[in-house]
Amino acid sequence: MATIIHTDLRNRHYRTWIEFLHGAEEWPAAQIAEYQLVQLQAIVTFAYERTPGYRRIFDEAGVTPRKISSLDDFRTFPCIDKEQIRDHLDSFSAKVRGRSYVTTGGSTGIPFGFYRDPIAFGRELASKAHQYYRVGWREGDRQIVFRGLPIKRRNQMQFYPRFNELRCSSYHLIPEKMEIFRRRALEYRPEWLRCYPSSGYLFAKFLQETRRSFPELKGILCASENLYEFQKQLLTEVFGARVFSHYGHYEMAVLAGFCEHEDTYHVLPQYGYAELVDRAGNLVTQPGQVGEIIGTSFIQRATPFIRYRTRDFAVLKGRGCPACGRPYQVWERIDGRLQEFIVTGTGRTIAMTAINMHDDIFDHIKQFQFYQDQQGKVVFRFIPKESCHESTLNDMRRRLLSKFGDDVQLAMEPVVSIPPTKRGKHRFLIQNLRLDFPYD
Ligand SMILES: [Zn+2]
Repeated sequence: MATIIHTDLRNRHYRTWIEFLHGAEEWPAAQIAEYQLVQLQAIVTFAYERTPGYRRIFDEAGVTPRKISSLDDFRTFPCIDKEQIRDHLDSFSAKVRGRSYVTTGGSTGIPFGFYRDPIAFGRELASKAHQYYRVGWREGDRQIVFRGLPIKRRNQMQFYPRFNELRCSSYHLIPEKMEIFRRRALEYRPEWLRCYPSSGYLFAKFLQETRRSFPELKGILCASENLYEFQKQLLTEVFGARVFSHYGHYEMAVLAGFCEHEDTYHVLPQYGYAELVDRAGNLVTQPGQVGEIIGTSFIQRATPFIRYRTRDFAVLKGRGCPACGRPYQVWERIDGRLQEFIVTGTGRTIAMTAINMHDDIFDHIKQFQFYQDQQGKVVFRFIPKESCHESTLNDMRRRLLSKFGDDVQLAMEPVVSIPPTKRGKHRFLIQNLRLDFPYD
């Protein structure tokens, strides 16, 4: 068989950035801080000179790029949110060569588009690959992929030699199709499974329940959604391999991945500058404290993101990872995106990460989804199995309520199917309430 050259390796922006990040692996904390300061000065100057939108908000706030001589100075700059950029995109964008318009479905329910340039895109791919290297992944490894990519082939499956990957549609995770994917995988022998956690979970559940075999994997690379503990547990159990996850977003302001040893989020310091900020706008400094992720991208030029409010939340672990020694900012977990909280009758917010669905009681259902459009009321939609009786239903209801508390009314709603989103994600919660800051 001919040697497969992974397409990304032909991209010079990708190659250069991979080499740069490799060389930066051993940087001590002081070198990282110095690098970040230079990058912040550069992007702020660029945005000030090349975009009227940033110039205006900096002028209004009385700050100028010249004033940044420390990271503290930078934190006096105003934050920007999705709506500002969405409503005045051209004003916050620069005419950068080769830029293209990209859109995101938006986990917060705000549809959102901006410009991305080829250098940023190459660096984005390289930064992710650089994190995957930590668990042994290399370009050209055989991989099976479950993602929301529309596949027009029969069987919703297609092999892409350019990436050496077998793509399976996450829109078609029903038993008959999953069996076809599995049989093809037995021939192909993938080394990696790349998936949305929600798709990987459905597939793992199928394998476990039907007791069917699957080729041995080196690992599972999750992306694009928050990885919940119950998903990680099942994936680890079924595949007997390490589950790797990272936090990232289309805007390319912050990237944070697991390391070789620990399942915590290591913020990649050459990619962007990340702050965790509490409701009052103060920097979160105590381990265990939660804050909104405010990101500044070092790699995006076409639409710069500077002190950008992501509406995603993380729990700080601290500075430096004792296991791998990287002096990075480390997050204990991503506490869900803003639409991953439910609101109780008394106004409490509960992160879905707190709901443990890895419980025998849920063995009697095929799939589930929480739904909320009224404060204090939650609907639990589920596809029952034949073994699901009245008593199991009551049991499930009781266990869920014990987690939610008595200020939640819970309706149990059996359904025949739970359709994926437009992007092929199987969302754990459909939250139609507009939430602000979910912590007291
Ligand atoms: Zn580490």
